[in-house]
Amino acid sequence: MTASTTTLGPAARAAFVQRMRDEVFDIVVVGGGVTGCGAALDAAARGLSVALLEKRDFAAGTSSRSSKLIHGGVRYLEQLNFSLVREALRERALLLTRLAPHLVQPVSFLYPLTHRAWERLYVGAGLSLYDNLARGSGDAGGLPRHQHLSRRKALALAPALRRDALVGAVRYWDAQVDDARYTLALARTAAAHGAAVATSLRAVRFRREGERVVGVQVRDLESGQEFDVRARQVVNATGVWTDDVQQLVGRGRIRVRASKGVHLVVPRDRIHADSGVILRTATSVLFVIPWGRHWIIGTTDTEWKLGKAHPAASRADIDYLLAHVNRVLAEPLTHADVEGVYAGLRPLLRGESAETSTLSREHAVWQAVPGLVTVAGGKYTTYRVMAADAIDMASYGLATRVPRSCTDVTPLAGAQGFQAVWNRRGTLASTSGLHVARIEHLLRRYGTLTVELLQLIELDPQLRAPVPGAEDYLAAEVVYAASHEGALHIDDVLTRRTHVSIETFDRGVAAAEPVAQLLAGVLGWGDEQIKREVEHYRLRVAAEVESQQQADDLTADAARLGASDVRMGAHG
Ligand SMILES: Cc1cc2nc3c(=O)[nH]c(=O)nc-3n(C[C@H](O)[C@H](O)[C@H](O)COP(=O)(O)OP(=O)(O)OC[C@H]3O[C@@H](n4cnc5c(N)ncnc54)[C@H](O)[C@@H]3O)c2cc1C
Repeated sequence: MTASTTTLGPAARAAFVQRMRDEVFDIVVVGGGVTGCGAALDAAARGLSVALLEKRDFAAGTSSRSSKLIHGGVRYLEQLNFSLVREALRERALLLTRLAPHLVQPVSFLYPLTHRAWERLYVGAGLSLYDNLARGSGDAGGLPRHQHLSRRKALALAPALRRDALVGAVRYWDAQVDDARYTLALARTAAAHGAAVATSLRAVRFRREGERVVGVQVRDLESGQEFDVRARQVVNATGVWTDDVQQLVGRGRIRVRASKGVHLVVPRDRIHADSGVILRTATSVLFVIPWGRHWIIGTTDTEWKLGKAHPAASRADIDYLLAHVNRVLAEPLTHADVEGVYAGLRPLLRGESAETSTLSREHAVWQAVPGLVTVAGGKYTTYRVMAADAIDMASYGLATRVPRSCTDVTPLAGAQGFQAVWNRRGTLASTSGLHVARIEHLLRRYGTLTVELLQLIELDPQLRAPVPGAEDYLAAEVVYAASHEGALHIDDVLTRRTHVSIETFDRGVAAAEPVAQLLAGVLGWGDEQIKREVEHYRLRVAAEVESQQQADDLTADAARLGASDVRMGAHG
């Protein structure tokens, strides 16, 4: 019997790596994005033995760079893809109410109308259908139905909008997620159900017996060591890297291509509104999404054929987003308002359409050779369906009868009993000495696991202090990121455990040194390593900022590649 834990600290990583060397696993999942972590949880919760390998960090690929919406996708209605919308709306309700109510929350959007009668009819009919599809598949997760607003009411809700930018509006509800933390919660939940999960492990080769894949050769990017992980079935869940991994067996039926999407982050006080906004563009839509003390504005949709690890946003991308949002803002945004920028790559199944933005985000699962199942495409919202399909297919190759997927009734780490802990937030504030607003912020990020963080503070009251340069977060959160959440480098903390790298004008540079000092205690860093890690983070930010001043993708990519990945340095 393997001890289960949601704690992904250095000791757990060492134990997991040892298990990977020793055991033969039913399922080895390659890729620690939402799909791979979801597949690891799906398999572990069916009672299978599971290992998950991620070459960088959980959610370091696309799964931390999305629009962070859990949605049916109103624009897919126009493509008449009702089954996709219905499925996504069912998932939306499940995530909101049962699987992760701490990480997934309602968000409303205003759809400004610019034509009087026909547009209100058309948009109203579409959103009625959206609401009905949601209710047809359950209770819509408690989200209200859409509402029609006059211009006066819309402007009262969003005074930032230009008076002449709308004749009225329709308001509808969807949900939003902390995407990086959700993926991390999946990994921790998989570990709680017995999976061995670790980051900085790159699959470099497949082990074969004849044609059959029987395992993966792995390089540990922290130690440089290579070892084999033996598997009855391997699941390739590597998003835009699908083809690269598939090339390791030399065969693949379906190809995945990448489309780049860029988002800007601006301070909340730069846009005076109590609701998100959705705007039409020539080819797609643009969202203005509330995000704590910030707004996220995005996204673009352009083909990307350059390096996949660090897609660069160019000045052209930023200009495009500012130009579109400024069409409706009374007080236009400028480059000086941009606190953060991030770019992600959509893994799209190739060959369906030349235009990336007209593709529906559907997924595929296939077996290129015996022992290797590949899953790709889809969208964040429907990761659970993708994961279940992948493990269903992998299960056919196992000699035993495998139970059906039960992730629909498996809450994520931090979710169980969340409402009760939320209701006790006043008490938690008075016993911990933290302001109730801090407790709420913690509860929204860690759910019921907040108590573990408060225990750290009880043991070392200095950890109650905010992080210098990133005052929205506490020192305890940095320590917890390394001791419980598998963070191994500054970037893991500033980009994915927290979002300091997109929420501060200096992109987290001032916080890098204090964060390194806090991590050093948990990860055993000496002065030299602290210096190296801080330098690495600063170079990364400098390269990113420079890339965002370049005119196009080619020059932006060249500038971004000026700084290497922290994990690829010595052992990549
Ligand atoms: C701009 C943008 C906006 C989006 N907005 C939304 C949205 O609002 N809502 C929504 O539902 N969906 C959205 N999506 C889609 C969604 O984000 C993706 O479909 C999803 O995150 C893909 O997850 P994944 O796990 O398949 O891929 P990834 O998250 O990229 O994970 C793949 C992982 O595999 C790892 N890997 C690669 N090669 C190896 C190897 N050899 N060994 C070990 N590990 C390896 C990578 O490091 C990576 O972490 C958006 C996507 C983009 C780009």
